[in-house]
Amino acid sequence: MARIVMKFGGTSVADLDRIRHVAGLVEAEAKAGHEVAVVVSAMSGETNRLVALVDALDGDTDNADTIDDEYDHIVASGEQVTSGLLAIALRRKGLKARSWLGWQIPLMTDFAYSKARISGIKSPAMDESLKSGTIGVVAGFQGITTDNRISTLGRGGSDTSAVAIAVALKADRCDIYTDVDGIYTTDPRIVKNARRLDRISFEEMLELASLGAKVLQTRSVELAMNNDLPIRVLTSMAKDGEPNPGTLVCNEVNDMEERVVSGVAYSRDEAQITLLRLKDKPGMVAKVTRAMSDANVIVDMIVQGISRSDNAANLTFTVGKRDLEKALAALNASKDAIGFEGIKSDDNVSKVSIVGIGMRSHTGVAQTMFEALAERGINVEVIATSEIKISVLIDSEYTELAVRALHAAFELETA
Ligand code: ADP
Ligand code: ASP
Ligand code: MG
Repeated sequence: MARIVMKFGGTSVADLDRIRHVAGLVEAEAKAGHEVAVVVSAMSGETNRLVALVDALDGDTDNADTIDDEYDHIVASGEQVTSGLLAIALRRKGLKARSWLGWQIPLMTDFAYSKARISGIKSPAMDESLKSGTIGVVAGFQGITTDNRISTLGRGGSDTSAVAIAVALKADRCDIYTDVDGIYTTDPRIVKNARRLDRISFEEMLELASLGAKVLQTRSVELAMNNDLPIRVLTSMAKDGEPNPGTLVCNEVNDMEERVVSGVAYSRDEAQITLLRLKDKPGMVAKVTRAMSDANVIVDMIVQGISRSDNAANLTFTVGKRDLEKALAALNASKDAIGFEGIKSDDNVSKVSIVGIGMRSHTGVAQTMFEALAERGINVEVIATSEIKISVLIDSEYTELAVRALHAAFELETA
């Protein structure tokens, strides 16, 4: 007998038929003698609908940027519905089941509403309930702060709920069911011959997720890695009896070294800002990054082009698309204090990245990447690298072309 956490995303619980199907998958594990906790997302589209309601109301005010605790209160509601529906579907099968909201567990978080971080989960009640053979159906994505307000974990946060609950309950397995049958070399919606990986290391998955692969929320991978809990990603859509091996996200193993590049990720959530004729003297970049952090804007890629002749530099950096206006307002407000002559910005850019732990020990990877992009006439605006990734910023019109070109250049497709 094992203790298992099973997580089902929005498409997997999109309607009552799918919920009945999920109940069948949970039943199979329970009948095999396992203790089961299930984590569910809202029905697909529901969270977007709720966010749009908040945006529409918030747009009535002059400060559309205000996200407060009521946002979380509203958008967390989709998961309440699916957890209850699945609990009923399980009861109809003659199984013992009950739903759990974030506060009932309780899953405690900090106060960063809309993107809260989990601060702790202690759940003797849920532990007891599972031991008594009752299936726990948890509303993902939500938690509670120490002042008893509902919080949410950021978009895609049910993945993180599932991993955190698996860690807290000392589960033997954490299975993340979704609408694709594993982690692919790139988004299979863009590249039809992308290949499913049997395994991927935590480190690579962390990079892919943070560079835009939405299949797992970045924090869920971080949490699994820190607690050494392998995650299996598999499909909830497999037909009865069909093999469903999925992908194991786990510690690095030797055979993984053989591939140089494991995957290609892309993100359209990018915007580029260039400060023109910034004075070229020590401390200028620090002033810019300080202005951004004071405005709560995360700066990602940075490149400086210096013209030695007149001691002026152009500084280009990227921020999240949603932060562009906030960033521009903050920069304009401190234009004289920082000391630059003008600003250019562009939110028609995408970041395309290659990731692989094999890059540590292989040369020529950058060359293959830049040649592949050049052959398609794709201009690279900004570059960022780390030990296991190279990212480029390009015109967003070429996103899919670049992803396909890199996927082919590194021979990632199915044989
Ligand atoms: P869920 O609703 O189950 O949480 P998501 O939509 O959040 O599912 O994540 C699954 C989607 O992630 C897939 O449909 C796929 O389009 C996308 N995706 C992006 N990159 C990858 C990748 N490398 N491998 C698999 N899926 C990916
Ligand atoms: N329902 C939430 C979202 O759409 C959480 C999740 O699906 O993981 O972002
Ligand atoms: Mg998701």
